[in-house]
Amino acid sequence: MADKRDYYEVLGVSRDADDATIKKAYRKLAKKYHPDINPGDKEAEAKFKEASEAYAVLSDAQKRKQYDQFGHAAFENGGGGGAGGFDFGDMGDIFGDIFGGGDIFGDLFGGGRRRNSNGPMRGADVRTTVRITFAESVTGTSKKIDVNLKETCTKCNGSGAKPGTQPETCGKCGGKGKIAYTQQSILGMVRNVQPCPDCHGTGKIIKEKCPDCYGTGYISTKKTIEVTIPAGIDNGQCVRIQGKGEPGTNGGARGDLLVAVMIAAEPGFERDGYNIFSNVTISYPTAVLGGEVKVKTVDGEVLYEVKPGTASGTRVRLRGKGMPTLRNKNVRGDHYITLVVDIPTRLTNEQKEALAAYDKLLTGEEKHIKKKGFFK
Ligand SMILES: [Zn+2]
Ligand SMILES: [Zn+2]
Repeated sequence: MADKRDYYEVLGVSRDADDATIKKAYRKLAKKYHPDINPGDKEAEAKFKEASEAYAVLSDAQKRKQYDQFGHAAFENGGGGGAGGFDFGDMGDIFGDIFGGGDIFGDLFGGGRRRNSNGPMRGADVRTTVRITFAESVTGTSKKIDVNLKETCTKCNGSGAKPGTQPETCGKCGGKGKIAYTQQSILGMVRNVQPCPDCHGTGKIIKEKCPDCYGTGYISTKKTIEVTIPAGIDNGQCVRIQGKGEPGTNGGARGDLLVAVMIAAEPGFERDGYNIFSNVTISYPTAVLGGEVKVKTVDGEVLYEVKPGTASGTRVRLRGKGMPTLRNKNVRGDHYITLVVDIPTRLTNEQKEALAAYDKLLTGEEKHIKKKGFFK
């Protein structure tokens, strides 16, 4: 992800480009690099994906704002569908009118949904967040969260029509939900498909609305859902709960609930991947002579034997004392401690004399020491 190109550069637009300019730039690139036009051309496919990703972000006001502020880093943690963290779900619209509403997008990105279609459509994913402590991220935990879950209205069985009445087939599109027209362009005759303006792509017109759901076909109810958070989860990662998103249409599956996990910072601990980093202060005699020190780890305090002659800043690995890995909580990262030698600033006269005597043994010279007492 390190050498990702700037999204504005990808689309060839200025940073203050308006939505129409961005859409236009993307259409141009999509037409040029679309895999259907360049079969087997890996480079074109990569360019197409790059442009699609840029468009997915810049066409969404909120994502664009995040990108403007944080760059690519805004989308690196967790996010949508696993690895890439991208949700291309809303891209169906623009593809519908470029390519006649085919399946192309769904095939390319797996998660793509078709809009404005009469076929079964998977419901949208719903996102929420949950906060846990650092200790809970080590052991794993489960949390109850409240979500507003849309359910099919039982009064109208999801039709949205008042009981006793039926939704009527849209006269404008004949129930197809989309209107096709052909247009002359420089590429020849281009067939365009747009969602039907009368029924908004549903293919149906509701004359008398269901009083319970106001014609939407859904009722929102507050549900408490238990989220199982695995040991080793990192800040910002998502737990996907299947089938708890928005309901699908025309028999499509429900979307998923994506729960982003926010982990409270643990003072003194730094996490990087599955490894933990912390500083441990040791006394000067321990650094010189060696000895045991107590080290705080995710398992609680452990004793570490400092080797004689340890320099300040020495880093030591406590193997297997880091975070559990998500795949197998018995496989763990490491805990790295940096041993920092404490230089005391407040010494008693006796301690100072002892140090001066030690210094004399080392150098053969008598050191003048400032003592606390009558004159200070
Ligand atoms: Zn209803
Ligand atoms: Zn229609």
